[in-house]
Amino acid sequence: MPAYDPNNIFARILRGEIPCKKVHESAHSLAFHDINPLAPIHVLVIPKGPYVDFDDFSAKASAEEQADYLKAIGDTARVVGADAGGYRLLSNCGVNANQEVPHLHMHIFGGRMLGRMLKREGE
Ligand code: AMP
Repeated sequence: MPAYDPNNIFARILRGEIPCKKVHESAHSLAFHDINPLAPIHVLVIPKGPYVDFDDFSAKASAEEQADYLKAIGDTARVVGADAGGYRLLSNCGVNANQEVPHLHMHIFGGRMLGRMLKREGE
């Protein structure tokens, strides 16, 4: 796994160097609107700690951070009203998943029918 890059865009958001449209914050987590939404509801939930991806976080984050993050994801979904019609959680982890930003983030998609979860190979 690559070392954590402290200059990735979400680290810069956490340091207040660039703005975000915040929707929820807890002791160890921050949630904000995705800059390029793929659904009427598209928000990202990130841990405040320096974790590259879900693998890194699940291996190294404290139990307190992990519990906070899980709760922040559910709370964020309710804050934006995604719980009403249902929603999808997605976290890209590493190369096979096409992860673009190397700081763990959970996408919350909602507000429309989201279709099948993944294209079949060759589609
Ligand atoms: P992923 O492919 O899972 O790494 O997704 C990265 C996500 O971050 C994409 O959906 C981008 O639109 C989003 N993103 C990139 N820069 C920003 C930003 N400054 N504020 C909010 N979302 C961003």
